[in-house]
Amino acid sequence: MLQTCIDLRSDTVTRPTRAMLDAMQGAELGDDVFGEDPTVNLLQERLAALLGKEAALFVPSGTMSNQICIKAHTQPGDELLCEVTCHVYNFETGGPAVLSGVMCRTIEGDYGILDVTQLEGKIRANDDHLVHTSLVCLENTHNRGGGRIYPLEKIQAIRSWCQQHGLKLHLDGARLWNAVVATGTAAREWAGHFDSVSVCFSKGLGAPLGSALAGSREFVTRAKRIRKLLGGGMRQAGVVAAAALYALDHHVDRLAEDHRNARIISQAIADTPCLRLDPPEVETNLVWFEVDPGLGTAKEVAALLKRSNVLVQAAGPYVMRACTHLDVSTAQAERAAETIRQTLARPARVR
Ligand SMILES: *Cc1c(COP(=O)(O)O)cnc(C)c1O
Repeated sequence: MLQTCIDLRSDTVTRPTRAMLDAMQGAELGDDVFGEDPTVNLLQERLAALLGKEAALFVPSGTMSNQICIKAHTQPGDELLCEVTCHVYNFETGGPAVLSGVMCRTIEGDYGILDVTQLEGKIRANDDHLVHTSLVCLENTHNRGGGRIYPLEKIQAIRSWCQQHGLKLHLDGARLWNAVVATGTAAREWAGHFDSVSVCFSKGLGAPLGSALAGSREFVTRAKRIRKLLGGGMRQAGVVAAAALYALDHHVDRLAEDHRNARIISQAIADTPCLRLDPPEVETNLVWFEVDPGLGTAKEVAALLKRSNVLVQAAGPYVMRACTHLDVSTAQAERAAETIRQTLARPARVR
């Protein structure tokens, strides 16, 4: 039964392919806390080169990666600037406050995207009463912004503003690969504008777990100490790093397929009167949409689709998210689109 389900809830639900498992099984291993795991070292070197940074560090999750970077860039009593719907502020269990003693000052963007003019004037004055503004965090692609790609020129403008004012700039690039494939702009070109970059292998790339951060050698040395503090120092982690290496080799270019499949699904949503795409344009693999309250709640709509073996996430009372990924074929995307059209076409309540 589970096998026949088309699971669009998240791009984290993928299971490692046979070939990925073979790569994991064949990995050369050592103790990575001693720096002796050749597969982890290879992944870190490979990623640093890919992102144009001096060094990289393999970590268990995207959350740990972002929070290590925030801690490495700040002091308790600092403030960071971020978009109000971003992951580091909303979906990381209060990490900046709990782990770093850092306040988040949020700014409302356009589907997750900030313009430099919105940051201007947000740096606190040098005054004993005030926190110290030290960091800006951006997210690309933007999850809650509907998988939107940050326009490169907006990043460039924010980068020069940060440099002018002595602020650090961090990128939550959990889905940077999607931005790379959708635009043709290389990872190092995106990453070059940031002091630190976090990427995930467990989202679109299909590895069972694993993320990494990258930056200057000095930054990564500090980050490694914080990783140990948080309990993220792993031993024969090469068994997982091998999956990440395999994913970099085989699962990046194919993200274009996920983007095409997302459009198949978004077209069905656009064609259904009781559903509204939000944002109206789908740029990558995430399809966010709203349910007309006359039809039912997001939970009710999710339950109805589930009866037809299509799983979609209820992300708010009337907000839903569908993700395409490695384990959703084009035929399945078409089947899901057809299910949405047939099941939700009638403007009657689904209950
Ligand atoms: C999933 C996600 C993360 C965190 O990744 P985990 O590995 O689940 O901790 C960070 N940022 C964004 C934008 C994400 O979508």
